[in-house]
Amino acid sequence: MENEVRVRVAPSPTGDPHVGTAYIALFNYVFKKQYNGKMILRIEDTDQTRSKASSEELIYQSLRWLGLNWDEGPDIGGSSGPYRQSERKEIYVEYVNKLLESGRAYRCFCTQERLTKMREEQKAKGRSGYDRCCRELTAEQISQNLDRGIPYVVRLKVPLDGVTTFHDELRGDISIDNSTIDDQVLLKSDGFPTYHLANVVDDHLMKITHVIRAEEWISSTPKHVILYDSFGWKTPKWIHMPLLRNQDKSKISKRKNPVSLVYYKRAGYLPEAMLNFLALMGWNPGGDIEIFGMDEMIRKFNFSDLNLGGPVFDIKKLAWMNQHYLQQMNEIEFVNYIREDIFSEDYLKKVAPLMKDRVSKFEDFISKADFFFNGSLNYEKEALIPKNVNATDLKKAFLSLLEQLDELYVWTSENIESILHSQLERLGWKPKDYFMPVRIAVTGRKDSPPLAQTMEVVGREMVRFRIRDAVTRFLS
Ligand code: GLU
Repeated sequence: MENEVRVRVAPSPTGDPHVGTAYIALFNYVFKKQYNGKMILRIEDTDQTRSKASSEELIYQSLRWLGLNWDEGPDIGGSSGPYRQSERKEIYVEYVNKLLESGRAYRCFCTQERLTKMREEQKAKGRSGYDRCCRELTAEQISQNLDRGIPYVVRLKVPLDGVTTFHDELRGDISIDNSTIDDQVLLKSDGFPTYHLANVVDDHLMKITHVIRAEEWISSTPKHVILYDSFGWKTPKWIHMPLLRNQDKSKISKRKNPVSLVYYKRAGYLPEAMLNFLALMGWNPGGDIEIFGMDEMIRKFNFSDLNLGGPVFDIKKLAWMNQHYLQQMNEIEFVNYIREDIFSEDYLKKVAPLMKDRVSKFEDFISKADFFFNGSLNYEKEALIPKNVNATDLKKAFLSLLEQLDELYVWTSENIESILHSQLERLGWKPKDYFMPVRIAVTGRKDSPPLAQTMEVVGREMVRFRIRDAVTRFLS
């Protein structure tokens, strides 16, 4: 259909699904609902070193959990068809060839060595970006290089002067001098496109009418506009949403807040509360109204009423809101939630092997296995910090453990175990001075089932939350 509103959510599957993705997806979803349009989910996995299948799966699950269903895109558990960028390599090459033919892009044969040296020279001259050394290569030089099989990237030929202007629907016209824009790489030497190329080609081919994305992409937009122009394509409308922020107003980060949707689901936040909270980060239906549902938002939302000030992601507020939604549940819903989400059969099957031999009668189960179900845990500072270790060193060890657990590709007890052991070896502490504080932070107890297995079952996000919680409560 001509004129159909088509929006997209385009996450990169490089970690746990982020609250920021849900926030952007929510506004896209509301907008497409208002116009009876379509929302496309596109997996932007062109950075092959950072993209993970497990992360992709969690994105699907989290968006479904929130009810932010997409109209086109991967089937849950099935193939992702034309909506996964890593499966569209030929398309990007085809389009980059068009730019090479029309002279709007060029091959750059510079080696890594040359680029490093060039960067230093540019820096000394107070400049940044590529020095455009390959921009004026003759046809003969290019074919010689190609004959010799010299690897190359393809760069965008950014106009040397003039200004690029685009209209942001929330901010008005934004202009940037072309002289400040780098000759962006479009195609890498391994044949993979960069974000800029794949994003623009796909938005065009997928007939996206409105790009609703985070503010952090504003600086990329002029490059995208130049790309559209180079292809001779019409640009979509641009809407850049304000960034979610930590309490100190910095961009929301996992060092300061849990940012994973997996964590919020696991911690027992309700999807309605999460959506209401995320909506309130940019908008409300008027006056002091804070509690409102999706239907009301779809009826009343307008981008012109959006608040552009950096919204602070305040977990206390989210908890307050969650309580409101929880109180709205009837008893049957409440019981079902506990049964399906807290004591789900799947989860209990994982807990059982670790607890079966540790209880003599069932009345002990809840008190001995509490850490499998709780969020923040109750224990004393004295229990956390061993006599031979000082708080600063323990804090450093915990922070580095947090990073490593975050990067752990496959969350299994074997892999967790090997991280713990290699960290212990690096620290050179007595095993008990290391394992005990980790155990206390993760379980709140001196006696728990085997640590790594327990961590596997508790889950990455809750484990990371508790270690961070130990740091903020007792080690900072
Ligand atoms: N893949 C980008 C991201 O991870 C998409 C940005 C955009 O929406 O253009 O956020």
